[in-house]
Amino acid sequence: MARIVMKFGGTSVADLDRIRTVAGRVKREVEAGNQVAVVVSAMAGATNQLVRWCQDLSPLHDAREYDTVVATGEQVTIGLLAIALQAVGVEARSWQGWQVPILTDSAHGKARVEGIDGSELVRRMEAGQVPVVAGFQGVEPERNRVTTLGRGGSDLSAVALAAALKADRCDIYTDVDGIYTTDPRIVPRARKLERVSYEEMLELASVGAKVLQTRSVELAMKQRVRVQVLSSFEDKPGSLVVDEDEIVEQPLVSGIAYSRDDAKVTLRRVPDRPGVAARVFDALAGANVNVDMIVQNVGADGTTDMTFTVGKADLARAQDVLGRVREELGYEALLADPEVAKISVVGIGMRSHAGVATTMFRALAEKGINIQVISTSEIKVSVLVGAEYTELAVRALHTAYGLDGPAG
Ligand code: ADP
Ligand code: ASP
Ligand code: MG
Repeated sequence: MARIVMKFGGTSVADLDRIRTVAGRVKREVEAGNQVAVVVSAMAGATNQLVRWCQDLSPLHDAREYDTVVATGEQVTIGLLAIALQAVGVEARSWQGWQVPILTDSAHGKARVEGIDGSELVRRMEAGQVPVVAGFQGVEPERNRVTTLGRGGSDLSAVALAAALKADRCDIYTDVDGIYTTDPRIVPRARKLERVSYEEMLELASVGAKVLQTRSVELAMKQRVRVQVLSSFEDKPGSLVVDEDEIVEQPLVSGIAYSRDDAKVTLRRVPDRPGVAARVFDALAGANVNVDMIVQNVGADGTTDMTFTVGKADLARAQDVLGRVREELGYEALLADPEVAKISVVGIGMRSHAGVATTMFRALAEKGINIQVISTSEIKVSVLVGAEYTELAVRALHTAYGLDGPAG
């Protein structure tokens, strides 16, 4: 007997037929003698619609009310899945975040999980009941209000629940059958990875591979939760996220990711003197705008150009706050370009091998793709390119690093 957390994403619960299929899968695990807790997302597209409604009413809406609205998607699916389970003879009960409770901090829209009291769920599971828990949501105890964990946050709900319940496994069911060398929807020759290390998965997720949400991988790594990604439509083995030393063969590059969620900002002709960069990034941090890649050119006439990326969702705020310090900083112009993509290659093998970046730059040059910004970390190289080159760049790099699987 094992204790398992099964998480189903939006496409897996997109309609009633799929919810019935999910109920069937859960039933099988229960009949195999396992204790099961389920976490579900909202139906595919539902959260996007809820977010749009908030934005259309007011672009700078109250974050607490945003959470009130967007958390509702998951309330629908937990109830429906509980009904579907009961209909096939599985004892089940739905749980919203506050009912468990899943306690978070009060950073609405991107709250952090601070603790889960799993005792009642465990009692129910031991008595043969299946708790169906709403992903993506929690409650902050200070004002007793509903919070959400950031987009894709149901993965985090599942991992956090698995840790709290001391589950043997956390199975993430989705619309692909595992973690691939890159997004299989862009590169049909992407290969499925049987195992991927926490470190690599964390880096891949943080640069855009949305198959697992970044914080969920971070938590799994910290709490040593065994995460498996597998298909909710097909019966086949998925991919395991494991410790580095469980991976026998470590290729130089294990994956390629892309993100179109960033925008490029350039400050033209900033005075080239100490303290200017500190002032720019201070102002952005003060407005809660995260900065990712940064480049600064060598100054010529006492001024320099400074380029960096921010999340697209934060671009308006970044422009606003930098506009307000323009006189103080004395830069000539602010240029904003949202039509960019960040392409990253990730691999633990990079720690001990040089030349990874060169291969990347050469492969992109051969396709005539101009690199706008570069950034690196111990196991990653990222470049910023024009958004129109996203697919071309990902495919070219996938081939250049020898990751292509058999055609077809
Ligand atoms: P869910 O709704 O189940 O949470 P997501 O859409 O959040 O599903 O994540 C699954 C998607 O992640 C896949 O459909 C795929 O397009 C994308 N993806 C991006 N990179 C990868 C990768 N390296 N391996 C597998 N899927 C990836
Ligand atoms: N429904 C939420 C979203 O779309 C959470 C999730 O699916 O993981 O972001
Ligand atoms: Mg997801």
